[in-house]
Amino acid sequence: MTNRLALTQKPHVAAQPLLGLNTDELTSLALSHGQPALRGAQLAKWLYTRPVTSFTAMTDISKAFAAELAAVYTLGRSTVAVSQPSQDGSVKMLLQLHDGQRVETVGLPYEDRTSCCVSSQVGCPVRCAFCATGRSGYTRNLTPGEIVDQVLTVQNALRERLGPDQRVSNIVFMGMGEPLLNYDNVLKATHLLNKEVGIAMEKMTVSTVGYVPSIRKLAQDNPRVTLAVSLHAPNDMLRRRLIPTMQQWTVQEIAAAAGDYAAVTNRRVTFEYCLLRGENDSLECAEELARLMNGVFAHVNLIPYNTVEGLGYYAPLPEQVYAFKETLERAGVHVTQRVQRGADIDAACGQLRRRQEHPA
Ligand code: SAH
Ligand code: SF4
Repeated sequence: MTNRLALTQKPHVAAQPLLGLNTDELTSLALSHGQPALRGAQLAKWLYTRPVTSFTAMTDISKAFAAELAAVYTLGRSTVAVSQPSQDGSVKMLLQLHDGQRVETVGLPYEDRTSCCVSSQVGCPVRCAFCATGRSGYTRNLTPGEIVDQVLTVQNALRERLGPDQRVSNIVFMGMGEPLLNYDNVLKATHLLNKEVGIAMEKMTVSTVGYVPSIRKLAQDNPRVTLAVSLHAPNDMLRRRLIPTMQQWTVQEIAAAAGDYAAVTNRRVTFEYCLLRGENDSLECAEELARLMNGVFAHVNLIPYNTVEGLGYYAPLPEQVYAFKETLERAGVHVTQRVQRGADIDAACGQLRRRQEHPA
């Protein structure tokens, strides 16, 4: 009697999400359910290229198998808690995960591409002094499926708004969290986005605060993604003030690791420099930054700070941004400046969630 009970009463286990599995893993799963191998590719299609929101919507899968799957698995999709379309076409979303946690993601349509800015963690343990995400604490890493879900959700929102041809073509890991502190999941997400969703590796950018061992590991693994390093300061004293938890590596060591990444992968690195008024926007800083970059296959991307209320940091004056840029250019540094998009929808990292949690 006890034995029969043990056989018929399944232990209570949380349903597993399918999103996050690649075609090979889905094929093994189908085989383990007594299905033919081709079901793996069919499931991958319904998850990644023609995403559906229920098992029953998978029209080439039998009702019986769909019911079997639904009993054990979830699709692994988030729900949209807040969706804020901007006048400039971008859309910022706050997504609710299975455990109630919320992360931000942004869709940015341009003339020649559509970018999705994804989060890699719930919150961020690095706690940069000027960053809304950093100041909100850290909860957990995101899974590969939760990262891919953001792209699919943004793509769907853009299609509903702008038409069925909308397709996310570029990925930037510049949402909440430090991607290189969630290395394995981020790497698996890039492979899923490449192989299952169809986005080129070369069109993905991983932005890091400068976690040196993982920059070196990424150079070794070389998934052919672009590396962006958030430097924000040309010397250690200033960098420690802005990023107090990252004292292990000097700016010289970070620049050297980035330089090696460029040399090993033959891909130009981006140094991100968030300009904060009166903190790191002096022309002396620009000159020091130019010296640091000397000989590195890189360019500087200047990001005028998007002021977050209550943190004590402010956007730079436009004339200072101009002078900073000119000083770098005169020293032979290649410089770009981030165009501000979605300012009306709190598009900077962590701002939407912060506003939802601490309404003004
Ligand atoms: N943790 C990673 C990626 C997420 S942050 C990193 O730090 O690189 C992505 C970029 O946005 C970083 O360069 C970060 O410094 C910048 N950023 C954060 N808050 C900002 C704000 N309020 N205004 C402008 N840029 C901001
Ligand atoms: Fe984390 Fe990046 Fe924000 Fe710093 S800027 S707290 S590393 S998300």
